[in-house]
Amino acid sequence: MAALDGRVALVTGAARGIGAAVAGRLAADGAAVVVLDLDEAAGKPTVAAIEAAGGRAIAVGADVTDAAQVTAAADRAAQEFGSLDILVNNAGVTRDNLLFKLSEQDWDTVIGVHLKGAFLASKAAQKHMVAQKYGKIVNLSSVSALGNRGQANYSAAKMGLQGFTRTLAIELGPFGVNVNAVAPGFIVTEMTAATAERLGITPDELAARSAEITPVRRVGQPADIASTIAFLVSDESSFITGQTIYVDGGRKL
Ligand code: NAP
Repeated sequence: MAALDGRVALVTGAARGIGAAVAGRLAADGAAVVVLDLDEAAGKPTVAAIEAAGGRAIAVGADVTDAAQVTAAADRAAQEFGSLDILVNNAGVTRDNLLFKLSEQDWDTVIGVHLKGAFLASKAAQKHMVAQKYGKIVNLSSVSALGNRGQANYSAAKMGLQGFTRTLAIELGPFGVNVNAVAPGFIVTEMTAATAERLGITPDELAARSAEITPVRRVGQPADIASTIAFLVSDESSFITGQTIYVDGGRKL
């Protein structure tokens, strides 16, 4: 029997990057997966890959900052697959700029997607989890939570998610719900490719520079995050809650 047989997972921002890898890994471990992204069509390739590997998944279009859409997505997971056991708050955006150039809109967008999005999705999911006295929530933080030039908005959101994680762990622990965060370092995705573009270098150059100053001498791949999350949502980690695990090859900043 696979670790997540019979479980149902909702992964936000799962059309690509880390979210797609997490969705694929949880499905490979036996979970039925709701692949949530802004655009339902964008989630279809993730679903197709899961189905091709023998797993079960559906794509759902929803904006995590919209309470009605997120609640409908969580309820749909339970209707389609019979429960909602696992939530991975992964949807994310960056709007980098130095403080004096950072617009109010870019502040609101980043805080909105990461913090309000995780709040709304967790609130929608906990209804199912508390009722069944079982659940696992994982929030995507970042090494940028510790401070990163040009990312005041993103850094604040990612450190905010660590406090959010600890508080939900306290509130939901008595109901059988574990809540943890994963804080990735440099992971090769479109998000880091966009960072390279802003710096005027290629994604490969940025990855090479990052690898050089990372103790394990490589950058991370989405699968590195997916395997950590697979552990945190399994029953192997049921005494771990309220934690933030840095998955960064040993490089904090
Ligand atoms: P990515 O490749 O940019 O993927 C993010 C996904 O989230 C996209 O599919 C995006 O959809 C979706 N999304 C954005 N806003 C959304 C919303 N309002 N509602 C629903 N979906 C939304 O990013 P990634 O690199 O895989 O990062 C995933 C998570 O890990 C993020 O929370 C990120 O902050 C965190 N993280 C990443 C790294 C890294 O090095 N890559 C490091 C630390 C933390 P669209 O394509 O339609 O915008």
